[in-house]
Amino acid sequence: MSGDEIEEKSELEAGKEGVSGGGSGGEEEAKQHAEETIEDATKPKMQGIRDAVERAYLGEVEEKEIEVVPEALVVGAGITGMYAALGIADAGFKVHLVERKPFIGGHMAQLDKTFPTLDCSACILTPRMVDVGRHPLINLMTYSEVVEVSGEVGNFKVKVRRKARYVDENKCTGCGMCAEACRFKNKWPNEFDEGLGKRSSIYIAFPQAVPAVYTVDPEHCMMVKRGKCGKVTIDDIRAGKAKTPCMEACGPGAINFDMKDEIVELNVGVIIIATGYDIIDPRLLPEYHYEEYPNVITGLEFERLSSASGPTGGKIMINGKEPKDAVFISCVGSRNKQLGYPYCSRVCCMYLAKHAHLLHEKTHGVKITILYQDVRAFGKGYEEFYDRVQSEGITYRRGLPGEIYQKPGSDRLVVRAEDTMLGETYELEADLVVLGVGLRPSDGTKQILEVLNLKLSPDKFFAEKHPKAMPIETEIPGVFIAGCAQGPKDIPDSVQQGKAAASAALVYLAKKKVRVKPRVVEMEEKPLTASSLQFAAKEISSVAASGSSGSGSGGGSS
Ligand SMILES: Cc1cc2nc3c(=O)[nH]c(=O)nc-3n(C[C@H](O)[C@H](O)[C@H](O)COP(=O)(O)OP(=O)(O)OC[C@H]3O[C@@H](n4cnc5c(N)ncnc54)[C@H](O)[C@@H]3O)c2cc1C
Ligand code: SF4
Ligand code: SF4
Repeated sequence: MSGDEIEEKSELEAGKEGVSGGGSGGEEEAKQHAEETIEDATKPKMQGIRDAVERAYLGEVEEKEIEVVPEALVVGAGITGMYAALGIADAGFKVHLVERKPFIGGHMAQLDKTFPTLDCSACILTPRMVDVGRHPLINLMTYSEVVEVSGEVGNFKVKVRRKARYVDENKCTGCGMCAEACRFKNKWPNEFDEGLGKRSSIYIAFPQAVPAVYTVDPEHCMMVKRGKCGKVTIDDIRAGKAKTPCMEACGPGAINFDMKDEIVELNVGVIIIATGYDIIDPRLLPEYHYEEYPNVITGLEFERLSSASGPTGGKIMINGKEPKDAVFISCVGSRNKQLGYPYCSRVCCMYLAKHAHLLHEKTHGVKITILYQDVRAFGKGYEEFYDRVQSEGITYRRGLPGEIYQKPGSDRLVVRAEDTMLGETYELEADLVVLGVGLRPSDGTKQILEVLNLKLSPDKFFAEKHPKAMPIETEIPGVFIAGCAQGPKDIPDSVQQGKAAASAALVYLAKKKVRVKPRVVEMEEKPLTASSLQFAAKEISSVAASGSSGSGSGGGSS
């Protein structure tokens, strides 16, 4: 290589180096610049986080102010939820009242007369049901369930599933022609009558139901179940070629088998849970042979038999006859640790006294015995009512029966018990046994727990924040519990809690703004163990799995 060539090459290489060297120097500079920019940009945020952590550590958490959405959600439209909704709506705020059944009124709608005054349940309840149905500020959503809750006090986002009734609520006049025409007219047990009466595949639970709208039972309507009723198929209906008997009978054309479940989104400031109770399953006590002997019935069945609007028109007929001897048994399921219901259900002593009185009044010469552990007549006028019932010649004997069996060759029953006052065993013949079955948290409780992170008390009813000072508040600000959702209680106490929940909710709604203190996680310093690591891993994966579904909980951000 000549000297010139060497010079040229080194020049080229120098040039290359210059370009690349210059390039690499520029990249580093750019990277450094970018890092500085990111650091500069994140510096205030990082400092903010450090400050927030420091303040949280010192207990100086900043409150934030939230505008309260001036609407409320009430879940459950029994007597409690109805009074809560009316209390809020009468004060001028919109209420969304969500009820899982096709009608409102809850268990009170099933009752005949009410203790201790013996006034008729429907006479108290029906005007209130009408008030709820007609109130311009109550958005009544029956046959619906809350499926999602997120957000916090003042601003909860709620999703409600409105189940398909297959009947247009705006068109149905409640005339009942469809149920008369249904191919399965009066074929299925009516749940409202505790299975003692029958209904069609399209039905209304009871004539005074609110809303006065019929519902197609998807389990028993052949069109919904199989897409075919008799010879008519869903395709025939869609093509306008044929109609089912119920559709033929429906003047306003309210029946629509193409109806689908709908999700409705709501935005509310406060939530009241009034999901009530269901009765303990009497089959858990096999010694009483409920379901096996038709003359062993529950208190709710007695209510339907005794009710003038019930399946027998108010006549108490057992096996087609009026009973001559009746035995009432208290504390069925309640105060029973083995069954998991150690608490007193509070209403059974009194409703059995009421049933005994009603039977005595309706059935001439019937001999009535009430078997009890203790009689708890705690409310206003209750002790006096208990005295009145005893004065009518109704016998109270202490001690619950160990067994009920059917007398061979007869439909009469024999109740074997021990009188714990006298210390003697005895047997009583009866043609009617009424079980004073206790109350348990309603079937709807589980569904609420899936959408709201509420706590339960040991009895599995929703836990109040403080049993004395905060009986309707919960751990989640802006979420209240009332009535039998909180624990077993009678109608007066349920109404009081419904009204109390309304006024507690109104405090938030009327203030318009709420100051929320973010929740602070408190950490306990402990050395790590294998099990605590496993627990942490489980928690993290469950949080990851729950994702952003919100489940509400609310009440305050972390
Ligand atoms: C046999 C018997 C006789 C009785 N007699 C008397 C009496 O004479 N006097 C008296 O004072 N008390 C009596 N009681 C007690 C009375 O029934 C209750 O005090 C009252 O019904 C409680 O009302 P509630 O609204 O809290 O609950 P409920 O009546 O149970 O109403 C709760 C409502 O919430 C709905 N719901 C449940 N879960 C959900 C959900 N997830 N989403 C939407 N809706 C839901 C239910 O469908 C229901 O409509 C009697 C009880 C029994 C069992
Ligand atoms: S489609 Fe048939 S089964 Fe269903 S409600 Fe109408 S008549 Fe009854
Ligand atoms: S016939 Fe029609 S309007 Fe009458 S109750 Fe049935 S669905 Fe309603």
